[in-house]
Amino acid sequence: MATFLPFTTRIELPFWKAVNETKLHEWKLDESPKPILGQLSYSEITGKECSLLMTYKSFNTNEIPKQESISGFMHLYNTAESFKAAMTAESKKKILEDETAKIWHSITSHAWLKNPELLSKFFMITFVDLKKFKYFSITCVPGLYFPSEIQQEINKDDLYGADPKTLFSHMAETSSTVFLYCRKSATILDVSHLESVNNPDDFAIVVADPSTVSYTAGWPVRNVLAAVAQLHSSWNHCHVISLRSTGSIGIKFMWTNNISSQEKSLNFVPKSAGWDKIYNVDLRKEFDPVLQVDNAVNLNNALMKWRQVPDIRLERYSKLKVLILGAGTIGCNVARGLIAWGVSHITFVDNSTVSYSNPVRQSLSEFEDAKNDRGKAETAAKALIRINPNTKAEAHMLTVPMPGHTIDKSAEAQLEKDVQKLEQLVMEHDVVYLALDSREARWLPTVLATKHRKIAISVAIGFDTFVVIRHGIGSRSDSLSHEAIAESMPYSHLSCYFCSDVTAPGNSTADRTLDQQCTVTRAGMSPHASAAATELLAAILQYPDPLMCPASVDENTTMLGATPHQIRYFANRYQMILPIVKRFERCVACGDAIAKQYQQHGWKFVLDVMNSPSRLEQVTGLDALQESVNAIDIEFDEDEDTTDE
Ligand SMILES: [Zn+2]
Repeated sequence: MATFLPFTTRIELPFWKAVNETKLHEWKLDESPKPILGQLSYSEITGKECSLLMTYKSFNTNEIPKQESISGFMHLYNTAESFKAAMTAESKKKILEDETAKIWHSITSHAWLKNPELLSKFFMITFVDLKKFKYFSITCVPGLYFPSEIQQEINKDDLYGADPKTLFSHMAETSSTVFLYCRKSATILDVSHLESVNNPDDFAIVVADPSTVSYTAGWPVRNVLAAVAQLHSSWNHCHVISLRSTGSIGIKFMWTNNISSQEKSLNFVPKSAGWDKIYNVDLRKEFDPVLQVDNAVNLNNALMKWRQVPDIRLERYSKLKVLILGAGTIGCNVARGLIAWGVSHITFVDNSTVSYSNPVRQSLSEFEDAKNDRGKAETAAKALIRINPNTKAEAHMLTVPMPGHTIDKSAEAQLEKDVQKLEQLVMEHDVVYLALDSREARWLPTVLATKHRKIAISVAIGFDTFVVIRHGIGSRSDSLSHEAIAESMPYSHLSCYFCSDVTAPGNSTADRTLDQQCTVTRAGMSPHASAAATELLAAILQYPDPLMCPASVDENTTMLGATPHQIRYFANRYQMILPIVKRFERCVACGDAIAKQYQQHGWKFVLDVMNSPSRLEQVTGLDALQESVNAIDIEFDEDEDTTDE
């Protein structure tokens, strides 16, 4: 009895990587079978199997030479349950029967004579747990039990006079895996000539054979025999050259020519076999763990595209460069929110070190950091890299120059450097978070973000309140012509953190007790505020041109909903309000007069303001405004006077 070596599926790691990528970004929930290629080798001479190799090339029809490939379909199920359902004996039988019927049809229609690849097809069923890197698959290459009772006789001495090298180069040149060798004329003919051959002894049928066992033909030979026996129903034998790069063999196959009446009927389809075993692999250790983190982060976000927000522009997060001024509780929490969105480029600026009170509230520092007096910015950046080694996190220990924080002559050179450094950092980033702990520290960053047209978001917390404000973009003269309406206001019209103030920022830490200097706040304020600040940016970035994103409370503004100007939260009544406030033309931070002064005098203007914050009021004309307010003489009706006596 002749035996045929069945296929064993060999799946390379890059195959699964390609499945991951394609499933995530292309197929998503689409479960329809996808065309793929298995690769065959004819050069393996020691082994026990016919290998059906799945590689990264399996999804690219041009990458595998045609003669070395076998085409098939992959059915990738979305759930473990549907995969299991497909794995029942009944379901597998049905799949095998369907695939066999297709092959049998190409035999009875003689289509295989023009296209012998139709004889070898495979079907793969898979389930991939993308989160846990677990892969399940099973492959079926149908081999037909037809004709019955096949015997073989190995022709050890020669290949019917053929030169195996000539045959092999013919295969490579023509990409054909089945062709004829005429024994009389020693010539090679296309397999389509087989139809007109009368004597099976005149020809040998050459079949490219991936078998690795010397005297055993591989699985593809089986269906060639079925096709030959069907084509010439009077034959009871034929000659085959099992072609391999070395060790090709000639085999005479014989069968009993007693095709039953049932086998002659139109509806007849031979029985077949071909299911490989189930492969169940856990590739967590195989994948580069650093890459895995990125894949997993991307996975969480890419899954949004499957159903919730199919058109979300995730690349706007991954390409974003964010500068976080202040690496305290807010800065740390904002950074954590951003890396979860896939932001990988984050720079911290802070001038202080981690204190013992910090780690419980700051999500990026620990006891040891406080014990070793480590810088907050450096600690936060290192923690981000520990969390995700792909993060490009940087730290700068830098004091943000502040109005009212007077400096003497000796510190001026340093101030010049600091201002330049800060401006450089603002320029190099797309977004600036103002997560600083004092009002005056936000002043220079606001001036710089306005000058360089950066998205600037101020986050500030009180005891049981927080406010998140996105500053108007660029100068007021950028304003669009149309007038602002209540529900929506152009980005360039929006107020900054300082717009509502009629006094310039001064030194808020002078003459204050400890509880007044530090932000004494309920524990949940910072995470809550930071999350709101992260989500606000996430939504702005989905606007077609984020720098034109209007303030809007309409949930249809972007794929992620509204893009408010301000988010104000009151924890004592769990209430959030979304005011939209128009920019103040005489603002001490984003006003045009300030921009002009900074443009003209640079760091020296900053120096002036540090030593004399009232300079801001002079420049903007606020001093005159205040005087005019004071000059208004308000007369109170005595009966209405409720002044406490
Ligand atoms: Zn302003």
